[in-house]
Amino acid sequence: MVKEGAPSLKSKKPLVVMKFGGTSVGNAERMQSVGKLVVEHSREAEVAVVVSAMGGVTDMLIRAATEASAGAGEHWKNVRRELARRHREVADQLLSAAEQSSVLPRLAAQVGNFENLCSGFSLVREVTPRAMDTLSSLGEVMSANLLAAILRSQGVAAEAVDAAELIVTDDNFGNAAPLFEETTAKTRQRLAPLRRRGVIPVITGFRGATPEGVCTTLGRGGSDFSGTIIGATLDADEVWIWTDVDGVLTADPRLVPEAHIIPGISYREAIELSFFGAKVLHPKTIQPVMKKKIPVWIKNSFNPSCPGTRIVPSASEGPPGVKAITSLGKASLIMVSGGDRVSFTQMAGRVFGCLSMEEITSLMVTQSSAENVLCLAVHDSELKRTKTRLEKAFELEINYDHSASIEVMPHVAIVVAIGENMKGTPGVAGRAFGALGRRSINIIAIAQGSSELSISFAVKSADVKEAVKTIHEEFKL
Ligand code: ADP
Ligand code: ASP
Ligand code: MG
Repeated sequence: MVKEGAPSLKSKKPLVVMKFGGTSVGNAERMQSVGKLVVEHSREAEVAVVVSAMGGVTDMLIRAATEASAGAGEHWKNVRRELARRHREVADQLLSAAEQSSVLPRLAAQVGNFENLCSGFSLVREVTPRAMDTLSSLGEVMSANLLAAILRSQGVAAEAVDAAELIVTDDNFGNAAPLFEETTAKTRQRLAPLRRRGVIPVITGFRGATPEGVCTTLGRGGSDFSGTIIGATLDADEVWIWTDVDGVLTADPRLVPEAHIIPGISYREAIELSFFGAKVLHPKTIQPVMKKKIPVWIKNSFNPSCPGTRIVPSASEGPPGVKAITSLGKASLIMVSGGDRVSFTQMAGRVFGCLSMEEITSLMVTQSSAENVLCLAVHDSELKRTKTRLEKAFELEINYDHSASIEVMPHVAIVVAIGENMKGTPGVAGRAFGALGRRSINIIAIAQGSSELSISFAVKSADVKEAVKTIHEEFKL
C-alpha cells in the first residue's frame, strides 16, 4: 500500500510509460527519431520515458572495470575516450549551443566518475559488486541526460531523472529486487511536480538504489523491468517497450530468420518466454504490472507504424497449439542417483533443499522414481555451486557406501515450446518428438508442466539451432 497523502497524479490524457532499449538510442540518428516518437505521442498521451544506455555501452563499461581490476593494462583509458566520444558526437550533432553548455558538463562528470572508479579498481585490483553497479549504470545516466536535452531541442519540456531517486531496492547488487511500497511513494513524490508542469521525465533504466541511497542495478537487460516498475507505481494506462524487432516473434530471429510477429500474448506466456531466454523481455518485466493488469506493448522503434505485440493479463487468443519456441543455450544436466539407501522422496527433498539454500533456479526437472534418479537442468553459471552443494548433501552415500552418485552432462540446451492454448491439444509432444527424430536430433530429457503452458526438451547445445528451427517448422509458426 502507498502511504496516505502520497500524490497520485493523473492527467486527463492516458499515461504511457515508454522504455527505449540500447539499439533504439544507439547513435545520433536513432536518438533523433526516438525524440520525434516521444514528441509525437506526447500530443495524445502523457509520456514518461525510461531509457537504456546507448547500445554496447554497458558491455564496454563492465569489461573496462573487469580488466582494470585484473590489472590488465590501460584498456579502460581507451574506453573512457570512446565513452566520451560517442556521447559527445550525439550532443554535437543534435543539441543547440545552449543545450550543449548545460549537458556537456554533466556528461563530462560521468566520464570523470568512470575514470575515478576504474583507476581505483586498478589500484586495489578489485571491483566489488556494489562498485560495479555504480559503474555499469553510468551509461544510463549519460543517455537520459542526452535524450532529455534532445527532447527540449525538439520543443517539449523534459528533464533527466536518475532512477536511483525513484526505485528503492534491496542490496542484492547486480540483480537487485525493488521494494514496491517505498518505490511507489518515492516515484510519485519525485515525479509529481514534473507531471504537474507537463515536463516529460526521462528516467534512467537499469538503476535503483538501496534505502540508504547506494546505487544498485536490476540485472542485465533490466531497463524493461524499470519500465514496468515505473508504469505500475504511476498506475500507467500502458507500458510500451520500444526495441529493434517488430514485437514478440514466434522464435528468436537470430536462430529462425523467418520467425514472425505474434499480435497478442498473455502475461503467463510472456513470463515463460522471457524465463527461457527470449531476450526481447527481461524475465521480471511482467511482475510489476500483474496486479494492476496494465497492458505492455512491444514495439519496433525502427518501424513504428507496425502495431507490435500486446501483452495482456487474460488467456491468449489464437489457434490451439504452440505459439512460440524459445531456447536457453548454456545449460547442464545434473543426474542425482540416490541408490538404495534413501527413498526417492528423501532424495528429492535433499536435492530441492540444496537448490533452495543456494537460491538456484532449476530450468527443468525429470524423474524416475523406480530407478531413484532425479535429473535437473541448471544454467552453466550455477553448475559449480549446485554440484558442490549436492555433493555435500550426499557425501555419506557417495564416499562411504558408494550407493549414490552425481553425474553432470555439460553442453546442453533447453528448447521450450510455449502456448496457453496447448492445453487440451493432443499430440504436441509427439509431433515435436517425431520432427526432431526425423532430423536425427536426440532428445536427452523432456518435461511438461501440468498447466500445459509449455513443453521443455533438453538437447545437445550443438543441436539447438536445428531443434528450434525444426519445431518452428513442424508447428507452421
Ligand atoms: P533492447 O536493447 O531494445 O532491450 P534486446 O537486444 O535486449 O533489445 O532485445 C531484443 C532482441 O531480442 C531482438 O533483437 C532479438 O534478437 C532478440 N529475441 C530473442 N528472442 C526473441 C523473440 N521471441 N521475439 C523477439 N525478439 C527476440
Ligand atoms: N544497459 C543495461 C544492459 O545492457 C540495461 C538494459 O539495456 O536493459 O544490460
Ligand atoms: Mg533488452
